[in-house]
Amino acid sequence: MSDQFDVIVIGAGPAGYHAAIRAAQLGLKTACVDNFIGKDGKLALGGTCLNVGCIPSKALLDSSKQFHLLTHSFKDHGISATNPAIDVATMVGRKDKIVKQFTGGVALLFKGNKVTTYGGYATLQPNHVVSVKGFDNKVIELTAPNIVLAAGSTSIELPFAKFDNKLIVDNAGALDLDAVPKRLGVIGAGVIGLELGSVWRRLGAEVTILEALPDFLGTADKDIAKVAAREFAKQGLDIKLGAKVSKAEIKDKTVELTYTDAKGEQKTVVDKLLVAVGRRAATSGLLAEGTGVQLDERGRIVVDEHCHTGAEGIWAVGDCVRGPMLAHKGFEEGIAVAELIAGKPGHINYDTIPWVIYTEPEIAWVGKTEAELKAAGIPYKTGSFPFAAVGRAVAMNETAGQVKVIAHAQTDRILGVHMVGPGVSELISEAVVAMEFHGSAEDLARIVHAHPTLSEAVHEAALSVDKRSIHKIN
Ligand code: NAD
Repeated sequence: MSDQFDVIVIGAGPAGYHAAIRAAQLGLKTACVDNFIGKDGKLALGGTCLNVGCIPSKALLDSSKQFHLLTHSFKDHGISATNPAIDVATMVGRKDKIVKQFTGGVALLFKGNKVTTYGGYATLQPNHVVSVKGFDNKVIELTAPNIVLAAGSTSIELPFAKFDNKLIVDNAGALDLDAVPKRLGVIGAGVIGLELGSVWRRLGAEVTILEALPDFLGTADKDIAKVAAREFAKQGLDIKLGAKVSKAEIKDKTVELTYTDAKGEQKTVVDKLLVAVGRRAATSGLLAEGTGVQLDERGRIVVDEHCHTGAEGIWAVGDCVRGPMLAHKGFEEGIAVAELIAGKPGHINYDTIPWVIYTEPEIAWVGKTEAELKAAGIPYKTGSFPFAAVGRAVAMNETAGQVKVIAHAQTDRILGVHMVGPGVSELISEAVVAMEFHGSAEDLARIVHAHPTLSEAVHEAALSVDKRSIHKIN
């Protein structure tokens, strides 16, 4: 006998737990299956985001920022400290406590919403059956007319630099180092490489980031990437572009990296190596024969714009389908699918998904870059404003960066907003709202912004689109 539900969600990461909670809120009998084991050896809901991604990395980014401020900025405020030191075990312990609070929070939300939780590895079988191999290796079967696949993603491993989680680590390993490495090598100057490279740099590691591509942060707006590159260089992050790594050899408790750049073959030796070259959909083993669900050439589940796989009642959301691997994209896909299953008009606007990189300064954007608009032949105008001219940013001692607003040359509709600077992970929301409501640069310019706040940079950038910024010469 199999347990019967209205909806089964495979995966309790950001996309899956949102789908499960929303389905239950809508009165559907819902089950969610996950197999992530936390540090305490027990099922830990919340997927990569809560266990080894967004939340723990932000905890360490915050701890390391405090340390960096103490050692670098406090003296500007007249604050001194003798022998500042970092206790890595306490920092990691604080991070683990935060993770446990949030994974436990998902378990409580499941209970409160009457979502039935199953621990184990789920495989989609034909005819709307999900088999679950429990931690005791016993297999049970669940059935439901609607099944949501939310299996997430896993780190891509390089064949020549296999993770041993001692010297060569992935994002999870880099959150759990037991001491500050003297030399940390990072392969990949993407989001993970920059965020976790920043954590250990701020704590004193010499960090070398090797990036195969010739451009820094190629998906960001060029002006924003330029400011970020300059600030990271000032912080001592050694980012080598056009550096393709081909070998990582363990020699006497160090890792010798061989890479090729414009000057030819180079070698560098590091004490720890973080490999952050992207993630792939975690779909291996997820689908039995005959489910009718298709995978694309990158192993992602093929879905339409409503996250439906084409097999009746089978949906897929989050990192295991096309689109950016962002928790908040997964959240909204999960909610939309639950609403569609319940017969409601679930919807996601993929054009207004914000991107955030939690370095210092932070980087955030929504919409199109200038390069994308040029390539598409769309006429545009821009306005920008530096944080160095924002009173609040100067008072905070965080003046690096700028906000840039891009609007259509004729209609003034906002096409993209790009930011680098203090607190821009929060400021980007205003741009998302404005774009979601099809706002113009003039709309943003005519909204009253509190003074003194960092949000004045957004206001002034919008004013600057029409060359009427007050606090800079247009
Ligand atoms: P990424 O795709 O952002 O960056 C990987 C980088 O590695 C690329 O720039 C690539 O050119 C480079 N690379 C690949 N092979 C290489 C080689 N052999 N030598 C040198 N460089 C090489 O991937 P990531 O940083 O691993 O992040 C994975 C996913 O997780 C991304 O989709 C990201 O969006 C997501 N993520 C998002 C956040 C956030 O939103 N703040 C945080 C962490 C992760």
